Amino acid sequence: MNFLEQKICDEGLVLSSSVLKVDSFLNHQIDPEFMKLIGIEIANRYKSDRITKILTIESSGIAPAVFAGLELGVPVVFARKKKSLTLTEGLLTSKVYSFTKQEQNEISIAEKFMHPGEKVLIIDDFLAHGEAALGLADLVIKANAHISGFGIVIEKSFQEGRKKLEEKGYRVESLARVKEMNTNGITFIQSEVM
Ligand code: 5GP
Repeated sequence: MNFLEQKICDEGLVLSSSVLKVDSFLNHQIDPEFMKLIGIEIANRYKSDRITKILTIESSGIAPAVFAGLELGVPVVFARKKKSLTLTEGLLTSKVYSFTKQEQNEISIAEKFMHPGEKVLIIDDFLAHGEAALGLADLVIKANAHISGFGIVIEKSFQEGRKKLEEKGYRVESLARVKEMNTNGITFIQSEVM
């Protein structure tokens, strides 16, 4: 079991067979030392890919993305879920449906922060049905930039997100891959030791 899987087992709460709560270190309170290790691990997997930018989505993707950005020495852009009052022109937008919140969001970034030809690493906290990931990919495509791959903290492998991304030819690196979860515990797909 890698250090993230151990943390999920120790502190994660299985709310249902499909929803995992990890608010003690990722989704509400953030454990900076731990998150730094997560960022370094994601960065290591892409260190030979000449990444020029990291893209994530507010709010829980920001912490791992910033630590990965620090390690790779590149800026981090986070897509907004709500329209900003100060940011109204020159936007790239995409629609994302959230199964957990059962609502559709229009996500956006400023065009000026995503240039044609950039090599982009997309990072998020969870990969479930792949909606957020595909929405972020769409923003990169609209900017005429290149998607180098995805760095995911927790993948719920029993949902179809990874399949959707791989079908499009994208590389997916997930630090923990949950195979199954219920009130008795959580099992993982064998992962690399971190
Ligand atoms: P997807 O778009 O892949 O269906 O879901 C990914 C997004 O939904 C993530 O950005 C994450 O915020 C949220 N999410 C999906 N499943 C879970 C879950 O089990 N627990 C938590 N905390 N967030 C989730």
